[in-house]
Amino acid sequence: MLGLMQDQPLLISNMIDFAERHHADGEIVSRRVEGDLHRYTWADVAKRSRQVAHALDGLKLEFSDRVATLAWNGYRHLELYFGVSGSGRVLHTLNPRLHPDQVVWIANHAEDKVLCFDMTFLPIVQAVHARCPMIKTYVALCDADKLPADTGIPNLVSYEAWIGTKPTAYEWPQFDENSASSMCYTSGTTGNPKAALYSHRSTTLHAYAAALPDVMCISARDSILPVVPMFHVNAWGIPYSAALTGAKLVFPGPAMDGKSVYEMMEAESVTYSAGVPTVWQMMLAHMKANNLKFSTMKRTVIGGSACPPAMIRAFNDDYGVEVLHAWGMTEMSPLGTLCTLKNKQLKLPPDAQMQIRLKQGRAIFGVDMKVVNEAGESLPWDGKSSGDLLVKGPWVIAEYFKGEGGNPLVNGWFPTGDVATIDADGFLQITDRSKDVIKSGGEWISSIDVENIAMAHPAVMMAACIGMPHPKWDERPIIAVVKRPDTQVTREELLQFFDGKTAKWQIPDDVIFVDAIPLGATGKMQKMKLREQLKDYKLPTA
Ligand code: AMP
Repeated sequence: MLGLMQDQPLLISNMIDFAERHHADGEIVSRRVEGDLHRYTWADVAKRSRQVAHALDGLKLEFSDRVATLAWNGYRHLELYFGVSGSGRVLHTLNPRLHPDQVVWIANHAEDKVLCFDMTFLPIVQAVHARCPMIKTYVALCDADKLPADTGIPNLVSYEAWIGTKPTAYEWPQFDENSASSMCYTSGTTGNPKAALYSHRSTTLHAYAAALPDVMCISARDSILPVVPMFHVNAWGIPYSAALTGAKLVFPGPAMDGKSVYEMMEAESVTYSAGVPTVWQMMLAHMKANNLKFSTMKRTVIGGSACPPAMIRAFNDDYGVEVLHAWGMTEMSPLGTLCTLKNKQLKLPPDAQMQIRLKQGRAIFGVDMKVVNEAGESLPWDGKSSGDLLVKGPWVIAEYFKGEGGNPLVNGWFPTGDVATIDADGFLQITDRSKDVIKSGGEWISSIDVENIAMAHPAVMMAACIGMPHPKWDERPIIAVVKRPDTQVTREELLQFFDGKTAKWQIPDDVIFVDAIPLGATGKMQKMKLREQLKDYKLPTA
């Protein structure tokens, strides 16, 4: 029909162009690996991301080729966010907390062509490069004079030498908004890790939605310190929403301990932050021990794991900071729900309000959700009926990268693996998890990987790994083991058996020897039953 609006693709390059034009002097402050502070503006981000695009063109990278990062939250990582995606390549944020073997597997599966890394992660790159034949260029995110001579890594350049001489003007290519822009792997519930592949369209829509007042409420008046890593689902989309709104960004780099984060928040007048409960646990402990207060902090988004009530109370009552409890997933870009109260709920007494704040919140426009029973029938939104949570929307995955695992959707809905209720006001509450994974300090541990390692021990006949509640890490893995008849193995021997086979933090905290592991009719281990059997179990204190 004639007379319609302009058909302009939603591209990530538009965001950085907008930030440059409208928020040119908006500040970005970063703690660098070298320890010093770096300051510049959105105009500088824009200029240097265009130099990144030239540098990638210089490597003859094709459209959609993957450029990986192993990097902290920092300004060079931000430039890669815009330069890589803006030029039509796919930004692949690797998780540096993984074991080098896992990094090798993921980098090869993604077919990464370039790897950009902070010098902190040089040992990982040294451990993996010989096994990643597709990576042709390594870029150390440092000045030319900080590049060590004998790293043993071929085709290694410093970032500054790589982009420094490139022109600052660049014509961003125009292409279909449904093209891939970035990707993030998540530990699969079965088999190998799988990647969610975000598009320019999904990322732009998510960035708009995240900035809304009842969502993350991000504005030009905010100074935001994202503690959530830029390698975990694009730091919950904050870099993009900040570009749209012109918010100031404050990046802690490698200094992620409570003291450093607190000091940076105070020094940079931070009003807003986001992260998993574990990081706040550490920061609140530091503040309490030193009798500290915030001067400017107003709000923080807490998600990735359930936020404990004591944390919401401490932030609110002791420090005057509003906690926005959030739920989402790698497969959802990640935001699904945010807990902001409705007007009528503000009149409720504090205890009743707290009951609502503990929920994961209301759906954002762009996310449809439902809870269903075993027959797949929708359950009522009564705050009591608990069932499997399914979602759909323009920033929810349709399938995993390379179609791994087949079609994940059920009649067009993505099953989250979470079990939840929804109340009459639309507030979601996660009550359990049907997927077989453990989340420790905001990072996944695959129970299958842990079980596979244990099963390789000659004395182990059956092994079941489950998560146990932990005050600091939210959950820690333990492993229940049935020994083979006539074999001997001690708890210590079995724990030692994990050394070097997986990342240290993925090694279980304890081994429990049991006579049998509960099995279902199909022979599948029934972990909910096992958890029930072990409900009085207490994790060993370190
Ligand atoms: P990830 O893909 O690493 O972002 O993890 C997503 C999963 O983390 C969800 O499916 C939930 O199991 C869990 N999760 C995320 N946010 C919350 C929350 N606020 N409360 C409880 N579980 C959460």
